[in-house]
Amino acid sequence: MIAEMNLSAKAQQLVDLEDKHGAHNYHPVPVVIEKGLGVHVWDVDGKQYYDFLSAYSAVNQGHCHPKIVNTLIEQSQKLTLTSRAFYNSVLGEYEKYMTGIFGYDKLLPMNTGAEGVETALKLARKWGYEKKGVTENDAKIIVCEGNFHGRTISIVSASTDTEARHNYGPFTPGYVTIPYDNISALAEALQDTNVVGFLVEPIQGEAGVYVPQEGYLRTCADMCKAANVLFMADEVQTGIARTGKLLACDHEQVKPDILILGKALSGGMYPVSAVFANDDVMMCVKPGQHGSTYGGNPLGCKIAMTAMQVVFDEKLAENSEVLGELLRNELKAIKSDRITHVRGKGLLNAIIIKEKDGISAWEVCLKLAENGLLAKPTHGDIIRFAPPLVITKEQILDCVAIIKKTMESFS
Ligand SMILES: *Cc1c(COP(=O)(O)O)cnc(C)c1O
Repeated sequence: MIAEMNLSAKAQQLVDLEDKHGAHNYHPVPVVIEKGLGVHVWDVDGKQYYDFLSAYSAVNQGHCHPKIVNTLIEQSQKLTLTSRAFYNSVLGEYEKYMTGIFGYDKLLPMNTGAEGVETALKLARKWGYEKKGVTENDAKIIVCEGNFHGRTISIVSASTDTEARHNYGPFTPGYVTIPYDNISALAEALQDTNVVGFLVEPIQGEAGVYVPQEGYLRTCADMCKAANVLFMADEVQTGIARTGKLLACDHEQVKPDILILGKALSGGMYPVSAVFANDDVMMCVKPGQHGSTYGGNPLGCKIAMTAMQVVFDEKLAENSEVLGELLRNELKAIKSDRITHVRGKGLLNAIIIKEKDGISAWEVCLKLAENGLLAKPTHGDIIRFAPPLVITKEQILDCVAIIKKTMESFS
């Protein structure tokens, strides 16, 4: 068993700094990254790695994409923040561009994914009271077991992860929890006329890349429509070409009533999130009823527009689809009794590691890092493989060779 990696004095010093002065709310793989470009990052000792996490799919466009960097430099020298107390010269253009791409009447700009989800929850409740006619304080929102929607109190109130919830109560009421990928459970929950929304990840990312059965999203969306309930898709991780289409919902031609985007919306350059809905829902929120100081700032808006343009110009959805298929096939061909399962869609993938002789997913990730590939275990035995979408076929095959060599080193 490898307990820790051997770090250089320089790297160890930086780890110690974080340890001493920072909150211990993460357990990082012991690698100290200094630089990134495209699919690669380099540590403080100059060692090069493939990034197979992409900051939880925020860096789909690759690290420090030159076009996005240029936009950041240009706009940051012109105007960065006005607050929404005034109009700014970029926000309207941004809203037109994004609503045009995703096909909605309106966009509400926020910064982080969690804020986007909070916004969606508030929107659904408001719509429920003002349009559906639910009596005050009775609105319910259906969520799924194993969900990950962020870290605020109202969001962890909807979580079933004991680690994420423990000692953070009292929790926000108004949730109904059903099993993921279970149509009959949804049908039953939809019987309650106080239900205003169903919040769901098209693929459960943090839970370990759980891909639901084909047709699940389509059926859920149809059932919600029939029950006059908003279908709310959290595509913060699955969106922006990650799963081989622009949105994971596009695989089943589903258009959510409320769509939440974040992470790769800005290509990892700046926190930008957005909630999309049509007027019937979005216009329930009036001036003064919701907002964020940084939400819709001209710097974030410009960056996000360039980040989206890169997705189209470089055909990242198509690349994700084709190379995802290749990656899964190659991973399945690795003969190792430690890998019990390979799953995913596009370039959002995971392998399940069977713990044996003290070698768990954590030790596998340490060895992968040593061999030049960075990935992070989730829920003990799952390793997510989600490289930047700008990766090439040649690089995927190189990465498969690293993974193969790593697995062989344990047997
Ligand atoms: C990461 C994530 C969030 C939260 O985004 P933050 O920017 O970390 O607040 C919400 N939903 C999903 C599906 C995510 O993967």
